[in-house]
Order: sequence, then C-alpha cells, then structure tokens
Amino acid sequence: MTTSAQAAPAIQIRDLHKSFGSNKVLKGIDFHVDNGEVVCVIGPSGSGKSTLLRCVNRLEEPDSGQILVEGVDIIDPETDLDAVRSRIGMVFQQFNLFPHMNVLRNLTVAQQKVKGRSKKEAVEVARANLEKVGLSGRENVYPAHLSGGQQQRVAIARALSMDPDMMLFDEPTSALDPELVGDVLEVMKTLAGEGMTMMVVTHEMGFAREVGDKLVFMDGGVIVEEGDPREVLANPQQERTQAFLSKVL
Ligand code: ADP
Ligand code: MG
Repeated sequence: MTTSAQAAPAIQIRDLHKSFGSNKVLKGIDFHVDNGEVVCVIGPSGSGKSTLLRCVNRLEEPDSGQILVEGVDIIDPETDLDAVRSRIGMVFQQFNLFPHMNVLRNLTVAQQKVKGRSKKEAVEVARANLEKVGLSGRENVYPAHLSGGQQQRVAIARALSMDPDMMLFDEPTSALDPELVGDVLEVMKTLAGEGMTMMVVTHEMGFAREVGDKLVFMDGGVIVEEGDPREVLANPQQERTQAFLSKVL
C-alpha cells in the first residue's frame, strides 16, 4: 500500500471551470473525495451538480483546472481515459438499461466486451451483484417489465459488475415513485457500508445525513458550504444554504 495512486484521494478537483457558451456553469470548484468516503452533493437545479459529476469521468470537457482520479490527471492528453473510466461506475437519474436485453445480459455484455471476461465468469459476477441489490431470480426479465426502482437497482448492479473503485450517482432516486426510493437508497447504504467510495448528487437529505461523510452545497457554480452532513443540515452557516434547506427540509 505504498504507491502514490493508493495514497492519493479517490478524486481531487482543483479550480475547475466549465462554461457552455457564455453560460459559466462551474466557476472554480475545489474539493476532494477520500478513498472509502461518501460525499453527497446538494443544491438547486441548474447549479452545476451534474456538470461537475460528468467532468469527473470527462463526459464533459473542463475548460480549466485539474481533476485527479486516484492521483492520475484525467485532463492530461497522455492519460488513458478508458483505463480511468473503467474504475468509475456511474448511475444516472434515468436508468439507461439496454431495453432489448434481459437483466442478465445487461450485466454481462460490458464485462465480456470491455473486461474480456468469459461468459461463465461474467454470469457469475452478474449473479453475485443481482443478489446484492435484491434481484436474484429476475435475470431473464426485460427492463420494461421491472419497476423503476428495480431498474435502478439493475443499473447499480451493472455498474458494480465492472468492479469500479468508486461510484458516481446523479440523482439516482429522482425519477422514482416515492414508494420505490427506499429500496434503492438501502442498496446504496449497503455499498457505503462496504467501503465503496461514492459521490452522490441527491435531494435525499435523510440519506445524506445518515450515510454521508461529507455534504457539499453548490449554488451558481460554486461550492457555497461543505462539511459534516449532520452539522451542515442542522446548522448551515451560509445564508444561501439556509435558504435552500428551508425549502427542501
Ligand atoms: P444541475 O445538475 O445542478 O441541475 P447542470 O450541471 O445540469 O445543473 O446544469 C448547469 C447549467 O449548465 C444549466 O444552466 C444547464 O442548462 C447548463 N448545461 C448543462 N449541460 C449543458 C450542455 N450539454 N449544453 C449546454 N448547457 C448545459
Ligand atoms: Mg443535474
């Protein structure tokens, strides 16, 4: 455990800027996620949360600043982006399952194509992850026949089947009917308990309070306030944080 990659934080962001045309969306973001840490990101719609998350695996191209993933500069043109991305699992608000593939195939296809696993091995990994998200026995079902909450748990199991070092979640429960939210959060809580490094954009303040190690409040493309979730939620220091929380809590 002596290499620099292992000593480095999972994610380190320095002075990150990103605009779309004249719309300055990220205006100098600095923060880090330690290994095994769960960082929850909250803030009003349009504050740049998704853009920030998408910059971490370069689904968006930053304008300036630095992003280190396990110590590797992902903006450096020399960096093998595919190798970095293979260590990052991503789960979106819309589940993005392959509609024409059954659950098992959704979990095995990238394992075989990207990781080069045999079908047998991919199926074993898939089954273990389906069990983890409570969906054993659903492997032959097509996504359209699952509830939104089940689809999202399949999406999580699919991401986990690639053995990521960290998981990014972008409002994973925002598209779900309220009664389906709990099961997805429970899976995420289990993952956190197993030591998974997680960055979670969410409006679920209960989850942030209970599971988060750090809470980041963004507004207008900057981090307004960050700290222990229980402290920030109970006693926000900044006026903008207070105003936001008074609307959502
Ligand atoms: P949040 O996730 O906090 O709601 P986003 O990061 O999605 O915020 O969006 C921040 C701002 O960036 C918004 O004004 C949005 O319209 C703009 N934006 C996001 N993605 C794009 C894009 N691909 N092209 C142009 N504008 C974008
Ligand atoms: Mg968003």
